[in-house]
Amino acid sequence: MSTIRQQIIELLQQEELNAIDISQMVSVREKEVYEHLAHISLSLKAKNQKLLIDPYCCLSCGYVFRDRHRFTRPGRCPKCKGGHIRMATYRVVE
Ligand SMILES: [Zn+2]
Repeated sequence: MSTIRQQIIELLQQEELNAIDISQMVSVREKEVYEHLAHISLSLKAKNQKLLIDPYCCLSCGYVFRDRHRFTRPGRCPKCKGGHIRMATYRVVE
């Protein structure tokens, strides 16, 4: 468990990735990636690092999901009800 989280942290220190990229690179299901990210976000704070999130955004109207606290994908846009959502991306920074 901690090894996978460490791998994810190392990947995100090198490049900006979304949950699908991470899922493929560390061979875990996308659903599990979101659980790891939630833990990583908390554990990084203790090390004075930060998980930077470029939030989900609606491809139809441009609505940005800034206030979303969960990591999982939103199903629909609350503004235009469209279902084309750009994936959030993540980075780890000092
Ligand atoms: Zn929209």
